[in-house]
Formats: sequence, structure tokens, C-alpha cells
Amino acid sequence: MREPALNRGGAIDVAVIGGGPAGLAAATELKRAGIGRVVVLEREQEAGGIPRHCGHPPFGMREFGRVLRGPVYAARLVARARRAGVEIHTGASVVEARPGGDLLLAVARGVQEISARRVICATGVRERPRSARLISGARVAGVLNTGALQSLVYLKRLRPFRRPVIVGSELVAFSAIMTCRHAGIRPVAMIEPGPRVTARWPSALFPRLAGVRLMTGTRLLEITGEGAVSGVVVEGPGGERQRIACDGVVLSGRFTPESTLARSGHLQVDPATGGPVVDQWGRCSDAAYFATGNLLRPVETAGWSWREGRQCGQHVAADLAGNLPREDAFLRLEAAGPALKYVMPQRLSLPHAAAGMKDLQLRVGREVRGALVAVNEQGVVWREKIHARPERRLLVPVGEIAAGVAAQPSGSRLVFEIREGAG
Ligand SMILES: Cc1cc2nc3c(=O)[nH]c(=O)nc-3n(C[C@H](O)[C@H](O)[C@H](O)COP(=O)(O)OP(=O)(O)OC[C@H]3O[C@@H](n4cnc5c(N)ncnc54)[C@H](O)[C@@H]3O)c2cc1C
Repeated sequence: MREPALNRGGAIDVAVIGGGPAGLAAATELKRAGIGRVVVLEREQEAGGIPRHCGHPPFGMREFGRVLRGPVYAARLVARARRAGVEIHTGASVVEARPGGDLLLAVARGVQEISARRVICATGVRERPRSARLISGARVAGVLNTGALQSLVYLKRLRPFRRPVIVGSELVAFSAIMTCRHAGIRPVAMIEPGPRVTARWPSALFPRLAGVRLMTGTRLLEITGEGAVSGVVVEGPGGERQRIACDGVVLSGRFTPESTLARSGHLQVDPATGGPVVDQWGRCSDAAYFATGNLLRPVETAGWSWREGRQCGQHVAADLAGNLPREDAFLRLEAAGPALKYVMPQRLSLPHAAAGMKDLQLRVGREVRGALVAVNEQGVVWREKIHARPERRLLVPVGEIAAGVAAQPSGSRLVFEIREGAG
């Protein structure tokens, strides 16, 4: 379908940066709420985001009530958005986000400036490359992130190697095994530095079912080879070292939000999540900007991100109608201590209205048992007993927190920490 040129078709009410599940859901919801001109700006030649690159199931249960492969799911989200009246502009990469909703785009014909009343940032996450992981050894061909592997296998129909080692065991590492199987690639091992598989049961059974040797408590020390990968050196739980012969390495996980626009521009970024600082409405430090989906924090599934996108669309529609509560005061939310990785949102606008994000999202970096507590200058204002595995999401109801801190001075801190061993 041919869209009107970006600079024709009238004033833009909302520009959504990123055409993945979150951005498409937000845009669709805005049109359903009666918002006039909603445009999605997507840097790739097709919208759909990460699922477009994942040729395997399971996607779509929440959104369409059935299990779909990634590309089918992505195409359905795009079709639904278009039916609702969303304009989707592909090959449009936003290179600068300026105060008040002004954007600079790189498009096929050069650069273009547009203005929108509100901007929703939905640029997702990416995996950290080898250079950011400090892996020693030879600079050789055949070392890929899962995203690059998926793109080579599903979109370009290539087989970059035949017997790789997969590093990591979170959900996306299992997506790497499925991608390999699709291309007739047989991974020789999956290695995980932690004592257990990071993904939830029953994923842990999958490597065995797929004939892949699972090595927990094992660190990648070195990649060897000349020109191409010929092996890896790993260190096992007892410090023993061994060489595994392989012809490729898939580096999975270690996600980081794709927050280049915020970092290079004026929006405040949270060093803990790596995404923009938001309040419970998803509103950024410039109130013309909102953020949603995996850009908020690493990393959730497509269904979760889609649901966040929908909610963000509703919040922005309410904002445009003048119905988003004004911020009279705010609290800073922080995560402290070695076990807790982040809390999102990082600001709580007060007075709290029950319609924003229902829960705060926190995540632990390692297995913990004890109490999750929220502390301010008066002492502990909220606590809950927890036992959580590494990378598990913890949800804290915003309503419970807001009730305990309503009288705090604006700008004061509420710190979350884990007291290990406490009940
Ligand atoms: C390698 C990898 C594999 C994954 N596999 C799975 C899986 O199997 N199942 C699952 O449920 N989840 C998986 N995920 C998680 C995935 O992030 C979510 O499924 C979901 O795609 C998140 O939706 P999103 O809209 O937030 O982001 P994305 O789907 O990442 O969409 C973001 C979009 O923004 C665009 N964009 C970024 N910057 C700009 C810019 N400056 N200008 C214009 N456009 C821009 C990108 O091109 C992309 O299309 C995977 C993630 C990764 C990184």
C-alpha cells in the first residue's frame, strides 16, 4: 500500500518510532481512540520488528488467540495497523529526536524533518556484540548474535556454519537452537556460566531433545581459529578447561535497549535499564515523548511488548485529549544492591491515578531468597517475601507503593533492595 508523503497529509498527531509489536500496537490503539494522523517510522524496508526475523513459533497467543510463526505474526500486526488507518513509513530511520517532538529522519532521498504533537519511542532491544563482551581470541568469521543468525537464515536463506556453540541459555538462546534446526545446522553445545538454564522450565529440556549438549557452570574463555572459527576454549564448574571443536559461535542474550536516540539527544536515560527514564504513563523527561515495549528494559517477549504498546497508545490518546493527570509531584524510584538490576518506571508521578502501568517491573541478576523491600527516609514502606531465579521479572503493584508514599516531598527517593535471608 502506498502511504501519503510524510510532509503531506496534514499535521502529524503522533509519530511512532519503530514498527515492531509495541510500536504497531500503540499506533493501532491510537487510531482506535480516534486520533487523527498517526505515522509509524520504521528503518527497515518492512515493518514487524524482531518477529519478522524469527521464522519459528510461538507468537500471537495474546494478540490473535493462536500460535503463529514470527513473520506471519508480524504481517498480521502490520495489516491490523493499516486497517485501523495507521500510516507506515518504512526505510525511514529517525536519526535525531529534538525537544518538543521534532524529528530528523534519514530516508531514501536524503534527510527530512518532521514535527509531531507526541512521539512514541518503540525501538526495542539488541544483543551486545562480541566487542562489548570482552571475549579473547582470534578475530574470525562465524561469530554472530542470534539476531544476525536469524536474519541470515530466515531472511537471506543462508547457512553461516554447521556446528556452532551457543553461548547463553535465556529464551532467545532457544530461539537460536530453533533457527539452527530450521537451516539444518547442528549446534554442538549450549554453554551457560550460571548453575542452571536461565529460561523457564520446560525450555531446559529443549537442548537435550534437540541433541545439543547443555553445559552449565561453563564460561567461554577464548575463540580459536584462523580466518574462521575452529573451536572454543571453555572453563567448567571446577575450573577445568577444555577445547570444543566447532565452526561458529552464537552469542545470545546480554540485551540492551536500542536507546541511541535518547542517548544522543535530550531525553534522560536510566543507566540501570539502559532505556529512557519514564513515569508510570511511559512519559519521558520531555513530556512530548513516550516510550514503550522492550526499549523500556531488557527484555520481554513479543506478547508482553505488544500489550505495553497498546497501553501506551491509550495513555498518549488520553494525553492528547487533556485527560492524563497533571504531575504535581514525583518520586524517584531506584534499585540498590548487587542482586537487583533495575526498576521501571523510574519516576512515579503524584498524585497517583490508578490508570497508568499497573505494576513496577524489577529484575534480579542472580538467584535470591529473602525480602524485596521499598525504603525511603522514614524506613521500610513496603515489603514482600521473594524467591527468584536469575533474570526473572518481579512485579510490584504501583497502587500499593503509591498508597505508602503519598505524603512524601516531591523529588524524594524510594529505593528497592533485596534483603537476602530475611523473611
Ligand atoms: C535476537 C532476538 C531474538 C528474539 N527472539 C524472540 C522470540 O523468539 N520470541 C519472543 O517473544 N521474543 C523474542 N525477542 C524479544 C523481542 O524483542 C520481542 O519479541 C519484541 O520484538 C519486542 O517488540 P518491540 O516492538 O519492543 O521491539 P522490536 O521488535 O525490536 O521492534 C523495534 C523496531 O524499531 C525499529 N527501529 C529501531 N531504531 C529505529 C530508528 N532509529 N528509526 C526507525 N526505526 C527504528 C527496528 O528496526 C524494529 O523494527 C527477541 C529479541 C532479540 C533481540
